[in-house]
Order: sequence, then C-alpha cells, then structure tokens
Amino acid sequence: MKVCGTATEIQHELASLDKERIALVPTMGCLHEGHISLIEKAKRLADVVVVSIYVNPLQFGKNEDLSIYPRPFADDIKTCQNAGVDFVFHPESLYPDHGIQVGLQVHGLSQKLCGISRKGHFDGVVTVVNILFNIIRPHLAVFGEKDFQQLRIIQRMVADLHMQVEVVGANIVRDDDGLAKSSRNRYLSDDERQQAKEIYAALQLMKRQANQCSSIQEFLALGYKHLHQHRIEVEYLEICDEVTLEPITNIRIFSTARIFIAAKVGSTRLIDNLSLSNHEE
Ligand code: AMP
Repeated sequence: MKVCGTATEIQHELASLDKERIALVPTMGCLHEGHISLIEKAKRLADVVVVSIYVNPLQFGKNEDLSIYPRPFADDIKTCQNAGVDFVFHPESLYPDHGIQVGLQVHGLSQKLCGISRKGHFDGVVTVVNILFNIIRPHLAVFGEKDFQQLRIIQRMVADLHMQVEVVGANIVRDDDGLAKSSRNRYLSDDERQQAKEIYAALQLMKRQANQCSSIQEFLALGYKHLHQHRIEVEYLEICDEVTLEPITNIRIFSTARIFIAAKVGSTRLIDNLSLSNHEE
C-alpha cells in the first residue's frame, strides 16, 4: 500500500497502471467498519482501490465540529492496510492557499433533510468530490447509504454533469444494537450511547407498525413518541421517496419510501435512515 500526500504524487502512481479499473472510496478518516465495508465493495468491483482521507473544511458550517473532528491517521493507515487498500490519498489541503474561487452548487436536492440545517454543506461535498474525481479519475466510487442524501446528490451530480464514473451505494453498517456506525459516535458518553440506540429502535418500530397507521402523521407520531420518551431531540423525521427525496404523502405508497432522521443526543448530531420497502433490512 502506498500513501500519497499530494495530487501530483497520486496521479504519478496511477499513471503507471495499465488497464486496471480504479475504485475511489472518499472518506474523512477515523475509519470504522462502515468505511471498511465500502472498501470491501470497492475491492469486489475494481482492480485498484484508492481511499481518500480528507476532512473537507468546505462541508462544515461555522458552528460545526471541524476543529475537533477526530483524525487518528496512524490507525487509519493500519485499517487501510488490513483491508487491502492499494493507495491512500491524504492531502493536506485540496484548495488553493487563498481560497477556492470556483465550486459546484446543488439546488433542489440540497434544500431538504440535512440541507435545511446545514446550509452550504452539500455544495462543499460536491465540490470536494468533484476535485477528488478529477485527481483520481476513478471508474467507480463507493458511498454509504448512511449518508443517503449525499449519495443521491452525488449520483445526480454525475448524471447532470455527464461525468464518466459509476457511483455505487453500500448498505449501512450498524453496531449490534442497531446504532449506525459513525466517526461521531465517539463523542457520545456511555449514557448517551445507550440513548443513541433508540434512534434505530424508533425506525424499526415505525417500519413494523406501518400497516397499522392510517396516515403519515400517525406514522410519524409513532417515531416521535419513542424518541421523546428517550429524550432524543429530533431535528427532522420524514418519509421521503428514495429517488427524488420528496416527502411521501400517501401512507399506502411505501414501495420506494425511506424514513430519514437527524437527531441530537447530548450535543452530538446523528443521522440514520431505513428503507420501508418490504424486501430490505
Ligand atoms: P465519512 O468519513 O463520514 O465522510 O464517510 C465516508 C463514507 O463512508 C461515506 O460514503 C459514508 O456514507 C460512508 N459511511 C459512514 N458510515 C457508514 C456506515 N455506518 N455504513 C456504511 N457506510 C458508511
């Protein structure tokens, strides 16, 4: 495995490959089993796997956790090595010293769910992913369904801009009690960690009882009740179409529906989602 710190270095390395299919797994580091599952999927679908580790300042808001975001680089390198990664791309910065002047913007798809409280977040995401795609020129890139809105926005970026890269989604990896793995879970105290598992419990409860609800409001109320009982502060809880991310208004049309949630446990903001179609999860 080779670790490259600059765009020139990784481009030089990749230029010497012949006709191998290259997969990119973009990450912000602090790697866990969720990231490893993306790497494993990339290995199954391509010959060469590049993992980028870059905490992208453009996707953090003013009052978010950029300065304290965990950066256990030595551990991440070991994780990548054990997972059979070929190249780690770990740039110090991806932007010019005096700031970036040209970036990308997301319209409708970023005006909902996480985009409401995280203004500019998805613009930062697509801008950095576009830069990474331009540097690495991967044949495919793997993104987790944990960040489902991000996955859809990146698929839309690739379609709208006719980019020559296949974007592949990967299932959410969870702890045994259901909490979706996240680099931010390490902010949770022991008590908060116990509370946090109730987020997935609420999603499962809703899915189990969907047939008994006569309206979307009643269905959402089930989830809110469970979350409030566990003192979880809900930022949003919505049922949306998996492709358009538009809210679903008819309780009987759940074949392409997914529950989306963002909630605060203590001061940690967590997100999760669950498909309502019968054959999944
Ligand atoms: P991050 O390092 O948090 O920016 O995440 C990098 C990639 O890993 C994104 O595509 C995430 O959706 C994905 N990811 C993070 N957590 C999980 C998880 N628990 N299961 C599956 N994918 C995940």
